[in-house]
Amino acid sequence: MKTVLLLVVTLQLALTAPRKIPYVPDVVFPPVPEDARLSSHQMQLLLDTNPDPEVQPGLFQGDMALTSEMYDFWRVGLRWDVMPERKWTNNTVPYVISPLYDTSDYVTIYNAILTINMLTCVKFVPWDGKAKDFLLIWPVKYPQGCWSYVGRFGGPQIVSLQPPDTKGPNCLGGEGRTIHELLHALGIFHEQSRADRDQYIDVKFENIIPEYRNNFNKQSLENTTYNFQYDYDSIMHYGQYFFSKARDQPTIIPKKQNVRLGQRKALSKTDCLKINDLYGCLNKSVYHNRKYRILCDSLGY
Ligand SMILES: [Zn+2]
Repeated sequence: MKTVLLLVVTLQLALTAPRKIPYVPDVVFPPVPEDARLSSHQMQLLLDTNPDPEVQPGLFQGDMALTSEMYDFWRVGLRWDVMPERKWTNNTVPYVISPLYDTSDYVTIYNAILTINMLTCVKFVPWDGKAKDFLLIWPVKYPQGCWSYVGRFGGPQIVSLQPPDTKGPNCLGGEGRTIHELLHALGIFHEQSRADRDQYIDVKFENIIPEYRNNFNKQSLENTTYNFQYDYDSIMHYGQYFFSKARDQPTIIPKKQNVRLGQRKALSKTDCLKINDLYGCLNKSVYHNRKYRILCDSLGY
């Protein structure tokens, strides 16, 4: 099975390679809202205490590139009524996977794409060389780590996935972190930003590096809606120690017992439903509603 997949991937690489992929510089400058900009001292403090590749200095909530305008209007999923241009047209997301990845990393990214394609009516398709808006899944050198823009940004749009190195798997130890970043690219934010989150978790502000306390802000109900129960299992939920001052001081404590936060293994049932809801897959017809609910229900988390 793996050999067949490798063959398919190699063939696809060969077929897509000659197209004119845009040049991607080593250093890129994703947009960051005013109050997420940091000094180099603040950045170093974060790097010293947080080894997680999603907790990158200088990006909004660690791993999102977004403008001040988007920051003003966001919710757990972007508001299409406020920013219709951020939604991918026809539920189709053209992508290019960088030829700089080795084959096993390519397969990891490709598996993440296949998973979303199978479970939702959103379709990631190889870029045809013509579509104006598409994802460039790329191991950019700076800012390193796993990060993404939120929603469709217009033009070639980077999803940064740092490959494994001597220190560990970074973003590509499994398909989970790729899925997390692809969900940002579809317009989905972190679960613990929900306005009602205080019913489900305690945020320990005293344990958060002060400059990063904003990352734990809630969103007002005026510009947010939640169609699903709070989801501790979400692949979009922070881990218990994200942005902590020290590795033994949790920043989030769940109110419910025996739950674990911050899984990056797979989509949860609710994540799956959330994508299908955001992209209208559940209202297409009774058949589609049933199909995607059954598919999402089959997931482990
Ligand atoms: Zn994230």
